[in-house]
Amino acid sequence: MSAKLIKGTEIREEILNEIIEEVKQIKEKYGVVPGLVTILVGENPASISYVTLKIKTAHRVGFKEVQDSQSPDLSEEDLLALIEKYNNDDSINGILVQLPLPKHINEKKILNAIDPDKDVDGFHPVNVGRLMIGGDEVRFPPCTPAGIQEMIVRAGVETSGAETVVVGRSNIVGKPIANMMLQKARGANSTVTVVHTRTRDMAEHCKRADILIVAAGVPDLVKPEWIKPGACVIDVGVNRVGEKISEKTGKKIAILKGDVDFDKAKEIAGSITPVPGGVGPMTITMLMKNTLNSLKFKLGIR
Ligand code: NAP
Repeated sequence: MSAKLIKGTEIREEILNEIIEEVKQIKEKYGVVPGLVTILVGENPASISYVTLKIKTAHRVGFKEVQDSQSPDLSEEDLLALIEKYNNDDSINGILVQLPLPKHINEKKILNAIDPDKDVDGFHPVNVGRLMIGGDEVRFPPCTPAGIQEMIVRAGVETSGAETVVVGRSNIVGKPIANMMLQKARGANSTVTVVHTRTRDMAEHCKRADILIVAAGVPDLVKPEWIKPGACVIDVGVNRVGEKISEKTGKKIAILKGDVDFDKAKEIAGSITPVPGGVGPMTITMLMKNTLNSLKFKLGIR
């Protein structure tokens, strides 16, 4: 059997087109568009390319986009003042501070200064709490877990009553997706198990999974024999395992591998995400969705 491929690149296009349509309708009816600001402190090349992609996507879906680039020696006090400025700016619905920040700035203090109603990354303790409560309380589910859940739903995988096993318990992927899959909600209602480095028999847990979500950061951690025939496998891992020359650009690029032995796993699973092109493209997509929802909450239409 060869598994159905769940392609993040295709689902991204579907969702971005839905956002473009909604933005047009809101603009027509209310005369406003969602506003997203990305604050970049310093010149870290990886951060610059992430911010550029976020801004490009925001532009594509018709948002007001602001890229606020600051020098690497910006003080913590000045960064807090900048966040306060955007907290009070009515045309901005989402505030993103690109991490990592320079060492002289306390990241936690900065992230906690963002208005929770503009925290489209969903990392503010208030939004973590809202996510845990579930239902109407949820504002901004963190983007990667939100993307994972959306892929499962759009692939038509039944989550209600399913055994969902999550490998990894980080605050950005493992814990939130486990919490989301067990909520009494659409795309959830699963029986959830979370495994990690102290789990006694990881293989036994994985073998039970109807839905297996792997976010460990260890190439080929999940062996094909751990996969239940027909299971849905979501591979979140992005591991650089070497370099190659891109056929498109002729430039050196990283060879990426997931946490699951894809070639063998696809013969056993019912559906599976590739790496790259699986979960990766969903994160920025869900950031756009959170920013749109932020405006909708403000307008009272969500
Ligand atoms: P993380 O903070 O390093 O957490 C990894 C988790 O996996 C930890 O809970 C760890 O357990 C567990 N783990 C590690 N090795 C394990 C092993 N051998 N057996 C069982 N559990 C193991 O990583 P993360 O930020 O969640 O990211 C995980 C992966 O997803 C990375 O490859 C990252 O690049 C990728 N990622 C992709 C996206 C995207 O595509 N958009 C977004 C975020 C992350 P302990 O807690 O016991 O240490």
